[in-house]
Amino acid sequence: MSKFIFVTGGVVSSLGKGIAAASIGKLLETRGLHVTIIKCDPYLNVDPGTMNPYQHGEVYVTDDGAETDLDLGHYERFTNGIFTKDNNVTAGKIYYSVITKERKGDYLGKTVQIIPHITDEIQHCIKKVAKNHDVDVVIVEIGGTVGDIESLPFLEAIRQLRWEMGEHYAINIHVTLLPYIKSCGEQKTKPTQHSVGRLREIGIQPDILLCRTERPISQEQREKIALFCNVDVEGVVEAPDVKHIYEVPSSFKKENLDSLILKKLNIKAPERDFKAWEDYVVKRLRHPKKEATIAVVGKYILLPDAYKSIYEALGHAGIANDARINIVKVDSEDLEKGKIDRFFKNVQGVLVPGGFGHRGIEGKIRAIRFARENDIPYFGICLGMQLATVEFARNICGLKGANSTEFEKNAKDPVISLLAEQHQITDMGATMRLGAYPCRLVKDTRVQVAYKKEDILERHRHRYEFNNAYREVLTSKGLVISGVNPERDLVEVVEVRKHRWFLGCQFHPEFRSKPDKPHPLFRDFIAVALTVK
Ligand code: GLN
Repeated sequence: MSKFIFVTGGVVSSLGKGIAAASIGKLLETRGLHVTIIKCDPYLNVDPGTMNPYQHGEVYVTDDGAETDLDLGHYERFTNGIFTKDNNVTAGKIYYSVITKERKGDYLGKTVQIIPHITDEIQHCIKKVAKNHDVDVVIVEIGGTVGDIESLPFLEAIRQLRWEMGEHYAINIHVTLLPYIKSCGEQKTKPTQHSVGRLREIGIQPDILLCRTERPISQEQREKIALFCNVDVEGVVEAPDVKHIYEVPSSFKKENLDSLILKKLNIKAPERDFKAWEDYVVKRLRHPKKEATIAVVGKYILLPDAYKSIYEALGHAGIANDARINIVKVDSEDLEKGKIDRFFKNVQGVLVPGGFGHRGIEGKIRAIRFARENDIPYFGICLGMQLATVEFARNICGLKGANSTEFEKNAKDPVISLLAEQHQITDMGATMRLGAYPCRLVKDTRVQVAYKKEDILERHRHRYEFNNAYREVLTSKGLVISGVNPERDLVEVVEVRKHRWFLGCQFHPEFRSKPDKPHPLFRDFIAVALTVK
């Protein structure tokens, strides 16, 4: 039977609960355990797929095609777990399922209520993951902050689950903040006491407090927090700010968090080697020998979370190449008029990530042209691949009216367009080409050299496709189609060969990159960028 760790957050949001949950997963894996992680989101959207990145940050996509919270990206990057649509439970999903059952008459005339029907449904979803994944430990992260009205049903559900399971089968870890007040030079414990008080009011007693702090916690402070929050002194764990998120597992390890969790869950798992992660990831992150400057051209550059997995994957490629990556964020709308050279000074590579909607498109196309004409390594992902195709069609093939029908319905040359079957779709939620699809690579192309194999599987999230009617014209002028979906003959990868490194892929390689297993395309992109003087 799987054991459970419930992670809640107190005091303020943005304490890094997702990274804490992922780091706990990592530490338990290094003790030889199998782990999975669930994210419970209290909002009423069924999934974040239809949300604007400014509302929610990046939408992360799993192999099975779920559009999920970006914390699932952290879970995948830190652990070896397999994540599916079941690993992201939203209030929207829970209510949708309960109301559908009610309409079917499944509740046999009962009044349908938050307790027990919503809370039972939450428990059912959590238990389903435990059952299907066959793991030793399930970590459940509850989104939001204790005290929010929205997250109450989730907290009640985990309270009941813990009661049902009993001691040594489930624990609660509360991530909290110890703010440092400069004027009195003190670290304050009161917000944490209040937050734990709030939790206790609803029947949850935390076993461990992960105290986010800018400064070390003294023994005296630890004892005070323990006494007033009703936890063991060893259960007060210091979680200091660190420079890189991948140092968080090491900082938890220093506090013996893994051994403490295992003790509380009564699991015997021998101490194993944690050094591989520390030596490869942490050391290289801290002391890189080289440096590469990459421009990321997008329309959500002000929000660090909007292109989370892209930035992380660039970082992983930096680790692989022993280089620090300096990211220059360029707003595509700023590139629409006038000279654009100044935006790319000292830039050794240009990346255009995925995106939707017409805003900033022409700016991205100008950035792509600049990279192509100046032999600057170019990496286009999803929209970045589609626009590279448009740019090539316009400026190399002379198809001045080339565009994607996403931006110009009646484009003269619709080099990117919808597939016939997609014309009928009217719903916006979960109706794109989503999840992992196979792709066959052409031998000796850049993409094939990077992967060192011919058949790959990568994740998708898009509606529009390369229009096969233009294959001939584009390839006759030198565009190389180096990856194709073998079942449906859809173009997946394009390259320009008379160039240092110019590649666009329809899929999202960033979702599969990990700090200790960098994605081959990102790795090669950075390797080539490092050769640009
Ligand atoms: N908007 C484009 C499409 O729907 C690209 C999507 C993306 O970049 N994720 O096909």
